[in-house]
Amino acid sequence: MAELLPKAVQNLIRVFSKFPGVGKRTATRFVLDLVRDGDERFRELRDVLNLAMDEVNLCEQCYGLAEGKEVCRICADPGRGGKTLCIVESIADQLAVESAGSYSGRYFVLHRLLSPLRGVGPDDLNLGELGRRIEEEEIGEVIVATPMTTDGETTATYIKKMLAPLDIPVSRLASGVPMGGSIEYLDQLTLGRALRDRKEY
Ligand SMILES: [Zn+2]
Repeated sequence: MAELLPKAVQNLIRVFSKFPGVGKRTATRFVLDLVRDGDERFRELRDVLNLAMDEVNLCEQCYGLAEGKEVCRICADPGRGGKTLCIVESIADQLAVESAGSYSGRYFVLHRLLSPLRGVGPDDLNLGELGRRIEEEEIGEVIVATPMTTDGETTATYIKKMLAPLDIPVSRLASGVPMGGSIEYLDQLTLGRALRDRKEY
């Protein structure tokens, strides 16, 4: 029945339904709620979107989120020096590792995983940047915290091979992370333990 709605409302539903976990039904509920309240909420939405567009960008070092600057708070923090680099698939996974509370090194966010089945190859990822960063910052240990899925494992193995000539320890999160499991939804205790007991491979 969406065809009955004004075109502009249909457009809004289309945009909202692109979010993960939001189907057309939920998107329609969001949008109908929004239009019911009218101008004030539209203005609020427009203002926060504009602000996010102006202020938020990807950190040029770790590809996490930076606010108004080239580098994010973690990369800019001298206390987060160390020579350990944790590689994660997504910003959600970076937040999960951060909230586990036991990691004090830096990050690198891939934003994608290698997936031969879906035609995602090494050139589609920011692996060149990763290699450059590890060499330039003389990183001493790499922790690959990609998910325990086929694509996560493929990516971890590729990174391990890619870094082999540098002769630095590359470790993977330890047991406790279930096969097929995502990092984002692990509880803090399990993730903290998996980080601490990471295994070089
Ligand atoms: Zn950063």
